[in-house]
Amino acid sequence: MTYKVLVLKGDGIGPEVTSEAVQVLKVVARRAAVDFAFEEAVIGGAAIDAFGVPMRPETLKLATECDAVLFGAVGGPKWDNPNAAHRPEQALLTLRKELGLYANLRPVRTLKELLNASPLRPEIVSGVDLVVLRELTGGLYYGRPSEKRQGAEGREAVDTCFYSEAEIARAVRFGFDLARRRRKHLTLVDKANILSTSRLWREIGTEIAAENKDVTFDTLLVDAMAMHLLRRPTDFDVIVTENMFGDILTDEASMLAGSMGLLPSASIGSETNSVGFHIGLYEPIHGTAPDIVGRDRANPIAAILSAAMMLDLSFGMHAEAEWINDAVAGVLREGYRTPDLAAPGTKMTGCKAMGRLIRERLESMERDA
Ligand code: NAD
Repeated sequence: MTYKVLVLKGDGIGPEVTSEAVQVLKVVARRAAVDFAFEEAVIGGAAIDAFGVPMRPETLKLATECDAVLFGAVGGPKWDNPNAAHRPEQALLTLRKELGLYANLRPVRTLKELLNASPLRPEIVSGVDLVVLRELTGGLYYGRPSEKRQGAEGREAVDTCFYSEAEIARAVRFGFDLARRRRKHLTLVDKANILSTSRLWREIGTEIAAENKDVTFDTLLVDAMAMHLLRRPTDFDVIVTENMFGDILTDEASMLAGSMGLLPSASIGSETNSVGFHIGLYEPIHGTAPDIVGRDRANPIAAILSAAMMLDLSFGMHAEAEWINDAVAGVLREGYRTPDLAAPGTKMTGCKAMGRLIRERLESMERDA
């Protein structure tokens, strides 16, 4: 069996962490006797430098022809000019929209070995196991108009938050399906006391809840959620929310785990790939980390766990995904840490060494099997 994977490493630490994830997949391929046909293309700031645009049409075409996309991160100070005609993030927004990837799954789990890595007290973060389902193709990130302009009284700017019933309903239904396979608890996060779009989310969420009585359903305002995530994170199972709230809450949630460098994500939609599973885009939740780029200090675990999500959701390779999760946990159990997680008594490693240790662990599991 050959699975076609498009690798888009992007900018900053994107290439460093994605290369480690690709090498991990190669070890899995050997062990599972499958083949990954990797295609690679330039995207983001690197594509602006090389071709003048953040993503070429041929790259989008490649993405639509592959079974899954493994993505690093895009952007950085070099391309930050707010007046530039092209911005690196446009590539990612286009990919999400064109591939119909409306559901962004961001699992947050705390590992026993890393309880001390969180800035929160261990008794608060111990046992956290939640998934944020962030709606990915609507809301403020896509609504029009979105522009800065000259008004009668000076400069003004506008962004538009738009959601249709269909967009909300498919995300909420996805949330119920996911919760049903977990601890059967779905929390819808909105700002229904202020925003019309949020009131529609809450209305539709409540209607769909009436058809899904086997799942406990509740709602929280996003400002309250920002607080509850830090105070009682173990109370949550699946959290469904609109695009921007999900973006912000998951960066906050990364601190439950201890570092941005630990959190993977999967973006999927309704389309299936050539092997009958979800077409998906898999990426760490972090950005390009310009402050540590090129110094072998990036944590590749989020990228490697994103590759595990790819095996699970796009290729149906559930056991193989668990091999990767186990290998990561094993290496952390042995005390190895990249600088973002370093603590007294742990063994400091760089990005490359962390990737190698995880691969060695996979290979030794191979020998033991
Ligand atoms: P960031 O996630 O890049 O970094 C935030 C902090 O977390 C930094 O201190 C960084 O060093 C640290 N960090 C992030 N990933 C890490 C890793 N794997 N290992 C160790 N430490 C890690 O966020 P930012 O600084 O706000 O953004 C930098 C650039 O990335 C911006 O241009 C932004 O637009 C872009 N960005 C891209 C994406 C994406 O491509 N999906 C997402 C977020 C930000």
